[in-house]
Amino acid sequence: MDILVVLEDKSGNIHRMSQEAIAGAQQIGGECGLSIGVLALGENAPALAKQASQYAVEEILSLENEYLNNYTADGFTAAVAQVVSSENPKYVFFGHTYQSRDYVPRVSTKLKRPFLNDVVSYTTKEGKPVFSKQAFNAKLMAELQSNGDGPVLVSFQSATFSSDNIQNGTANVRSVTVEMDTGTIKTVPEEPFQEAAGGVDLSSADLIVSIGRGISKEENIPIAQELAKAMGAELASSRPVVDSGWLPPHHQVGSSGQIVAPKLYLALGISGAIQHVVGMKGSKNIVVINKDPDAPLFEIADYGVVGDLLEIVPKLTEAIQG
Ligand SMILES: Cc1cc2nc3c(=O)[nH]c(=O)nc-3n(C[C@H](O)[C@H](O)[C@H](O)COP(=O)(O)OP(=O)(O)OC[C@H]3O[C@@H](n4cnc5c(N)ncnc54)[C@H](O)[C@@H]3O)c2cc1C
Repeated sequence: MDILVVLEDKSGNIHRMSQEAIAGAQQIGGECGLSIGVLALGENAPALAKQASQYAVEEILSLENEYLNNYTADGFTAAVAQVVSSENPKYVFFGHTYQSRDYVPRVSTKLKRPFLNDVVSYTTKEGKPVFSKQAFNAKLMAELQSNGDGPVLVSFQSATFSSDNIQNGTANVRSVTVEMDTGTIKTVPEEPFQEAAGGVDLSSADLIVSIGRGISKEENIPIAQELAKAMGAELASSRPVVDSGWLPPHHQVGSSGQIVAPKLYLALGISGAIQHVVGMKGSKNIVVINKDPDAPLFEIADYGVVGDLLEIVPKLTEAIQG
């Protein structure tokens, strides 16, 4: 295989960002004539492999090992490094998730191979992909290409590709094994980040309602919470809302918060400072409500409403609740 996509397990299902990486592999593979394999590893490997076998890829590798039943960076690094060494693909694709951010740099170090992380787009040049990532707070785009034959590790930011574009097909599942022992794992796994922080993984949310300083005071936060609840959305915010102590830090979107790319980002009373925009401009649909018609965020909005959020939002919630 030329491209190996490494899956992440989300409670027994393929993580949305791994599905996006498969869609990306299919697109890039189609344009550059590269074949695709998929690696499912961990406790739920058979279930993930079965799901992946319905996609149009060449082969699924399924890896079970008692040392991979709970995620640890040590275990996943050792396992993925061994599979990459034995399969020798040109590219290894990951979603740019908390988990891949944790262990893929170690795979890169172990294999002494480059890791192009947080990629947001690509082009092709002479039949090879050229990857792009944001630099200097998204003021510049950096184009990256490996000058060797691979393997090159690549992680994709959320919504770089759409999981809706995955092509279905049938693929055979092959069991693979790796050598691991008690000495491999030097850490004790804890609960995954989401549960441990009691917070939200905004980077994989489909719908986000985000509030800025325009919400005016803490007492108004429930107005936005009710809208988010009616929509089945996660609640996010700009930095001033967090700095004021109105929401905990894990709600913050932006250069010093989370990078998100939901299907819908509804921004309420957010001006559009670059530090906020870099965290959400990959969203598929951006809807802005702001009473200032010159607010910079309108420049990247798909839909904009000039008005007072304190008047509009309760009516919107009522309309959604029916
Ligand atoms: C190093 C550094 C890192 C940073 N990191 C981040 C980050 O990660 N995330 C982040 O968000 N910011 C970050 N910032 C801060 C950033 O520069 C901005 O100050 C911040 O994003 C502004 O937040 P805001 O849009 O909510 O507030 P403001 O800029 O004050 O905008 C409030 C908006 O609400 C509108 N408004 C007011 N009342 C209403 C109403 N009733 N109805 C409708 N609209 C209304 C106003 O017209 C205005 O456009 C960082 C700054 C620095 C220096």
